[in-house]
Parts: sequence; C-alpha cells; structure tokens
Amino acid sequence: MDKRNLSKTGGEVSRLGMGLMRLPCDEKGIDRPAAEAMIDRLMEAGVTYYDTAWFYHNHQSEGFAKEALVKRYARDTFTIATKMPLGEAEKQGAQAIFDQQQQNVGVDCIDFYLMHGINGGSIDHMARIGADEVVAKMKRDGRVRRLGFSWHGATDDLPKVLDGFDWDFCMIQLSYYDWIALDGQKLYEAVTSRNLPLIIMEPVRGGGLARCHPDVAKVFESEQAMSALSQSYPDIRGGPCPSAASWALRWCASLPGVDVVLSGMSDMSQVNENIGLFSPVKPLSDAERAVIDKAMVAFKELPLVPCTECNYCDKCPNSIPIPRLFGGKNDVVRFGSSWYLMNYKNWTKPENQITSCTECGVCEEACPQGINIIERLKLLEAELAQG
Ligand code: SF4
Ligand code: SF4
Repeated sequence: MDKRNLSKTGGEVSRLGMGLMRLPCDEKGIDRPAAEAMIDRLMEAGVTYYDTAWFYHNHQSEGFAKEALVKRYARDTFTIATKMPLGEAEKQGAQAIFDQQQQNVGVDCIDFYLMHGINGGSIDHMARIGADEVVAKMKRDGRVRRLGFSWHGATDDLPKVLDGFDWDFCMIQLSYYDWIALDGQKLYEAVTSRNLPLIIMEPVRGGGLARCHPDVAKVFESEQAMSALSQSYPDIRGGPCPSAASWALRWCASLPGVDVVLSGMSDMSQVNENIGLFSPVKPLSDAERAVIDKAMVAFKELPLVPCTECNYCDKCPNSIPIPRLFGGKNDVVRFGSSWYLMNYKNWTKPENQITSCTECGVCEEACPQGINIIERLKLLEAELAQG
C-alpha cells in the first residue's frame, strides 16, 4: 500500500482512504458483518485513513468507526477523520457537537478534523458561532491533531478560505471529469500552490464515472485501453476488464501533491480492486492518459441539453429552476443518475415545478443557446412522471 508523509503536520497515511458513507446496508442500517469484513481487508492491506462524518448513514457512521476500528484495532494502526456540521454546531453549540463526535468515534484525539461543507461564507460563519475558537482550542488541548475543511463552495472563493484560517490540510472534490469539463484544475492549483496536504473526495463523482454512459464506458473496454493498460500491468490480458472507476481513481492518485484519495467503497470487490490500484500506485502513462482524453471526447459528444447553466432564464415568472433541471437531466445521461432530479419534487415548491409552466416564452427569449425550453421541460416532466 502506498503511503505518504504529510507536509506541515507530519504523520504517515495510506494514499487510499476509506470513506464510511456508502457502506453496505440491510433493512436496519449498516450491515455490520459485511462492512467489518471490508474494514478487515483494508486494514490487512495497510489502509490507514478512514473518513466519517456526523451525518453519514443517518448518524450511524461515526459509531460504526468506533465499533469496527477503535474497538478492534490498535490505536496507532489507523487514523480517523470526521467533520463538524456547522449548521448543527450553530443550533447545539460547537463544543457540544465536538464532544459528542469524540464520544461517537471513541478516540482521545481525532487525527483529522474537518469543517464540513465549507463555502465562501464559512469563515464568517465559524467566527459568528465561535466554532473557530472551539476547534483551535481542541487542537491546543490535543483532542484534534490536524484541522482542515471539505470544500463545497464556488471555485473563486476557495483562496480566501484557504488564507482565512490556519488549516493543516484541505479536501476538495476532484476527478478527471471535473479537471477537464469544470473548475477542477483551478481548485487543485489553489491548494497545491500553498503546499497544503490535499485529500481528494468523490474521485469517481459519487459513482457517476463508474456508471458512465455506454459510449464512454466502451472507451475503457476498448483495445486501445487494454493495450495501454498492459504496459503498466503486463498480466492484465485474460483477466477481468478493469472498471471505469479504476481509471478515475488512478487519474487522481497520479496527480502530484495529492496525498490521499478517498473512495466510498460499498462492497468487497471494490475494496479488492482499489487495494490493487494503490499497492503501489502506478501513475498513468501517456498512453493511458490518451484513453482518458478519448473518454472525455465521448462525454462531450453525448446527446445533452445544450444548457450552459448561465441563468439568463431566471426571469421565469414562476421561478421554475430551469438550469438545475437541465443540469440534472444531463447528469442522468452522463452518469446514470442525478441527485437533483431524484429529489426535485421534494425540494421544489409545487408552484415552482414544471407543471406550473404557462408557456409564456420569457425563458426562450432570454436563452442565448436557443434551447426550445418549453418543449424540453414537457419531455422532462413526462420522464419524471414515469419515474
Ligand atoms: S415558458 Fe414556462 S418556464 Fe419559461 S418563463 Fe414561462 S413559465 Fe417559466
Ligand atoms: S438561458 Fe438557456 S443556457 Fe442559460 S441556463 Fe437557461 S436554459 Fe440554460
């Protein structure tokens, strides 16, 4: 298992991290025997970084970390990361939340403590509710070893947050897709230019790059892909075709300055594949990078709604969230699902849903892409009604 000595604070961690947010479940919650077997396999392989949070698995994940790791393994054989939920800290008090989390995970010192879901306004939020002083004191008192944050904000706001507090590390979402199609490179460079230890979350975009459209998947199953892989893994021919997810994980692990790549593993086959990828990491060759470039071309050629999410159509008198609906529809085509669309009717008031469209045409007049918005919304509504 590849290991990394962290800059700034020191300490060695495995480059593969286990995210405890997508554990196998049964009707009662986390399937403890199945999940503990995965932990045992990861520990045996030398994985030392385990990431949980207050909210994961309906508040059961931190307790699972205690049962599966803290009670069963020597304290110096693993590290635990968990995260302060600022919204809850505002309601219950930052100190009370921290104390509860420390009890949940059952360790004297939390190795990596993150502010969860940080954006451009979070430094002010932390100061307003006193969370900044609480976590700094927890570090001085030896109850936290390293302080960091997980980024969920606008790219341009990241530098001011990086410079707004004495962080020991940072976690961002990054994948080859984010790098090429979105602002991933900018996020990465903001962190690495400050020499801050970097942890990557969602390297497979919540599974989206594993479930990608068949036109993309076939690039990773092509002769070009197998030929490129066989240079790095001479025994690969004749065995199972490596998953699309494995390309995404290796892409992240190949980036200089990336210390840990988190994977929210859900079953033993993912555990075993990931252990193989990181034991040790083989950085992508030029031939393998060409395969990823080809996959990105396939992504760009998919039949998407040509919406740039520019928001010019936000004058809709019924506040129908047109860009988010089209973004969600495109995610279904690219990645097989969309969190937004799956829950759209729960978090959009009835008067703002597609069915309230009066076909006034204001949105179509504003759209610089000339999208036939009314017709496409009708089609989307019909698809959503079918489930
Ligand atoms: S046509 Fe429908 S979606 Fe477009 S602005 Fe009018 S009400 Fe909104
Ligand atoms: S104006 Fe057109 S391109 Fe811009 S967000 Fe609305 S639908 Fe998308």
